Amino acid sequence: MSSKVIIIGTGFVGMSYAYALVNQGTVEELVLIDVDKEKAIGEAMDLNHGLAFGPRNMAIRAGDYSECKNADLVVITAGVGQKPGESRLKLLSRNASIMKEITKNIMNVGFDGLILLASNPVDILTHVVQKESGLPTNRVFGSGTSLDTARLRYEIGNQISIDVRNVHAYIMGEHGDSEFVCWSNANIGAKPLKDVINSMDSIQFEDMAHIASRVRNAAGEIIKRKKASYYGVGMALVRITSAIFNNENRILPLSVYNNGEYDCDNLYIGLPAVINRQGIHHIVKLSMNDEEDTKLKNSSKILRGHLEGIGYY
Ligand code: NAD
Repeated sequence: MSSKVIIIGTGFVGMSYAYALVNQGTVEELVLIDVDKEKAIGEAMDLNHGLAFGPRNMAIRAGDYSECKNADLVVITAGVGQKPGESRLKLLSRNASIMKEITKNIMNVGFDGLILLASNPVDILTHVVQKESGLPTNRVFGSGTSLDTARLRYEIGNQISIDVRNVHAYIMGEHGDSEFVCWSNANIGAKPLKDVINSMDSIQFEDMAHIASRVRNAAGEIIKRKKASYYGVGMALVRITSAIFNNENRILPLSVYNNGEYDCDNLYIGLPAVINRQGIHHIVKLSMNDEEDTKLKNSSKILRGHLEGIGYY
């Protein structure tokens, strides 16, 4: 089965993803597209020179939108920053127009695959791309809270000295300020996190509160020090890509279209979902406590407000 991936936006995030794809040998064909065509060409050359040391052969090249025709997955990592004095809403509507243009270019050549977004604000832009593409909601999704969840799992594992891969917990809601930890469904192996902590003398459950704020502030802390964050999200995008091409039925917290599964607006928001070769198979419905239900509704209200602000709700 073919595995042709197009990356649109060869900046820090796009190229961290590309570099991780090459290192893990996830796909057989990779095409790079950017408004800065020379950058895309240079990046493709650089990656090709690493193939001799990689796990498999791959076809890597810079290209244009005609490459989308027979692509299996398009990953959008294009982004523009805030102009001095520009409001968040103005930036949002500028980003939405860019996504509209990109989506038009992808769909014009008869694209019929999956679209994954990482560009921020990811929940809103995923909504825009789905509406503009006309593709079914299960075939358009965003990285959502996958990076935030990876940060959460890292912090919890670190706190209780357990391997991050045995930490099962999700950040849900908006990929942004209103996201929250779903503590009621946090497990270590098969044991509820609360029970694990109760059995430890050195730590109280209340000590976990600072973890949520560390995760929420992580992007800001990284950006303050190195201007952008990209390795973590690059690896999150590879995980999502592997789940697709290996038809894994993997549960990942992604920006997916809530179609009544959760008691909040029907829009793109970070929820755990099963993903495979066809895209989002279904959303995993967790039973949350009242506080978590309220936080999800609040997050959805914020996203809806932004969508209304740009005329997409
Ligand atoms: P960057 O500035 O390094 O790269 C952006 C790239 O997009 C540039 O190469 C630029 O030329 C290209 N571009 C701009 N407009 C384009 C268009 N119309 N068509 C094609 N290419 C275009 O930025 P970055 O650090 O790579 O961040 C990219 C996006 O990823 C941002 O929106 C950022 O907020 C987001 N991000 C998301 C997460 C996440 O968890 N989802 C994490 C980090 C960053």
